[in-house]
Amino acid sequence: MPIDRLRSDVHYAILVVFGIAGLLGIAPFAVYRFLRGDWLAGAVDTGVVAVLAATLAYLWRGGSPQRAAIVFVANNTLGCMLIAVNLGLPGVLWTYPALVSNFLMTSRRIAIVAAVALIVGVALFDPVLDALGRAGYVVTAALTSVFSFLFAQRTHSQRRQLERLATHDALTGLYNRRAMESELAAAAETFRRHRLPVALAVLDMDHFKRINDAFGHEAGDQVLLRFARIVQGRCRASDRFFRYGGEEFVLLLPGAGGEELRRLLEELRTTVETRLQIDGRPVTVSIGAASLRADESVTQWLARADAALYRAKDGGRNRVELAEDVEDPLAA
Ligand code: GH3
Ligand code: MG
Ligand code: MG
Repeated sequence: MPIDRLRSDVHYAILVVFGIAGLLGIAPFAVYRFLRGDWLAGAVDTGVVAVLAATLAYLWRGGSPQRAAIVFVANNTLGCMLIAVNLGLPGVLWTYPALVSNFLMTSRRIAIVAAVALIVGVALFDPVLDALGRAGYVVTAALTSVFSFLFAQRTHSQRRQLERLATHDALTGLYNRRAMESELAAAAETFRRHRLPVALAVLDMDHFKRINDAFGHEAGDQVLLRFARIVQGRCRASDRFFRYGGEEFVLLLPGAGGEELRRLLEELRTTVETRLQIDGRPVTVSIGAASLRADESVTQWLARADAALYRAKDGGRNRVELAEDVEDPLAA
């Protein structure tokens, strides 16, 4: 049962709640309308309930929330239009929750199209409203849609801000460690599927504590920022650059391996050495890198790059070391 998904995927949870609430809210009316002999309204309600139930079952079996949302919105719009045209005012009332829920379930663009279709359809074909009633309906339904749109707009921009905060480092604007973990896992998956080489490099600033001690934490922050810009400027479009934590960074290099990898990283190291300075003195970086092997986990991959970094530090810093250099190349 997708209980975990209900907790972790807000869109999915909204759709499931909408589907269940819709079922519970509309099913009694379907029964009541049949009992009253109102066959047409009963049939419309039954159709709406059947679509809700089928879409819920689809979601339950792991279906796409985007597709389910479109079905729900179409069902909302068509069902409301038919019931409003059939019943007049008691049917028109259902259009309000339908308009609001459309904005919660799907993109603003689709919800706007559905709102215009529903409001125009009801205003044109409602059998009982007089001109003033129609104008009142159009204005109130349009206002409901505008407020829903603004709410959806705000929620969307806040979610984007939250996503950015969760995946980016505040100082450098680079992807953070959390984003790195999921990207490394994705890179490893791509590697397993397509067997294209992929390498990662751990970059650790040399003697960074001394920079902080001599010039202060603020100045240290500025050095980190400049370092990030310099490396970013050298990255290829397919490379990914992350702040791993503190003065350590990780570079994910798809397609790079062997001598090409060494050349790229040596270039990077010299660029930093020549371009990054504090008080006229160069700031340097040590780099350890490893190409992903078929038989290893992301943790092992990172650990091998880390071990190579330690060798670079032990070897005097301002160096590049590849994990492959000390291991059996046949195992790679
Ligand atoms: P090594 O060459 O062995 O890497 O020496 P190091 O001094 O760079 O290494 P160490 O790990 O001992 O110290 C890292 C320093 O980086 C300590 C910490 O104060 C500093 N640091 C970590 N994060 C930040 C940060 O966000 N801003 C600043 N200014 N300094 C930071
Ligand atoms: Mg460090
Ligand atoms: Mg360091």
